[in-house]
Amino acid sequence: MDSYQLYHTDSYLREMDAEVLRVEEHWVVLDRTVFYAQSGGQPADHGIITWPEERAQVVDVRRHGHEIWHKVEGPLPPAGMRVQGELDWSRRYALMRAHTALHILCGVIWRDYGAHVTSSSMEPGKARQDFELERLTLDFVTEVERCVNTEIEANREVRIRFLPRAEAFAIPDLIRTKVNLLPEGIEQVRVAEIVGLDLQADGGTHVARTGEVGRVRVIGHESKGRINKRVRLAIG
Ligand SMILES: [Zn+2]
Repeated sequence: MDSYQLYHTDSYLREMDAEVLRVEEHWVVLDRTVFYAQSGGQPADHGIITWPEERAQVVDVRRHGHEIWHKVEGPLPPAGMRVQGELDWSRRYALMRAHTALHILCGVIWRDYGAHVTSSSMEPGKARQDFELERLTLDFVTEVERCVNTEIEANREVRIRFLPRAEAFAIPDLIRTKVNLLPEGIEQVRVAEIVGLDLQADGGTHVARTGEVGRVRVIGHESKGRINKRVRLAIG
């Protein structure tokens, strides 16, 4: 569905061939990419690009408008060059597990307590999410941790789909995740569904089944305001 951001249809793709379209200072635009641009609380991918007799590190990836810019350390490929890209897969896979863990967490808290997420962020092996909750006790987070691990053990399927905008707007669950904040003009909405648990408009990379997340632990919880409470997770 998206032949530019290759991870939108296949999160498990680690490599690609691409052509360099533009180069500015240390930043490179390619005609397609497996590198995820920092967005939605998920950090950028790292990795390498290579071309005949050269090799450079990709240390950051950002989106500007419709373009994805790769920050490169080392030699710079010229425009028009064919390059191979390869992800730092252990970092990316850890981020996929963390991202799916957060969707399980928000699915459980929505299902059992009806609380909305206000923000999310993740790094390899760790993640945090803030909720519209007035109270957060140790008993509460212990119970949430148990329920999240139950959903991981259930090994639910994580399904990525592209829906026409009108169809996406008709799904009540998607409206709760602020699909209405999507920019005008987007005709297809990418949806990440944990079958039987959670459904969100989402651009991130996920594992294929919840079992891949591995066991999670709640390693902290704190108040970030009267109706804003934070839960911190360690993954695996
Ligand atoms: Zn997400």
